[in-house]
Amino acid sequence: MEYRTGLGYDIHRLVKGRPLFLGGVKLPHPKGLLGHSDADVLLHAVCDALLGALGLGDIGEHFPDTELRFKDISSAELLKKVVSLVKKNKGAIVSVDAVVVLQEPKLLLFKKQIRRRLSGILKVDESRVSVKAKTNEGLGETGKEKAIASYAVATVKKR
Ligand code: MG
Repeated sequence: MEYRTGLGYDIHRLVKGRPLFLGGVKLPHPKGLLGHSDADVLLHAVCDALLGALGLGDIGEHFPDTELRFKDISSAELLKKVVSLVKKNKGAIVSVDAVVVLQEPKLLLFKKQIRRRLSGILKVDESRVSVKAKTNEGLGETGKEKAIASYAVATVKKR
């Protein structure tokens, strides 16, 4: 038995006319994230953290944005595939900790819901999942509401 840690990072542009999904939850906001899938930046970072923990490559290798079958796909479906891949590789998720960097919308009201949804997708207890929000103090692309970024760390126990 050994413990593995993986790191994930992602960023997507914020544009008008797209729904905003964060952690598998649709949030009320005039802008959404641009991408081939639903562009859920938080779930993408979590996917990469889990893949990284077991040395299984990255989300782009598993779900190429050139493939039509992944067009507008729910990132919750992608993360579910990653979770079964973790299991297949003798891994068990110990914890996931994530940060979302965004100026708007304020996540305070939605963090609990996002955490619950994320723990549901990961099939682990909510106590093993953490979602934090940070503004970028008005600086850079995230601070100027041109993008939302996310970081995630996952710890996986490997048999
Ligand atoms: Mg992405």
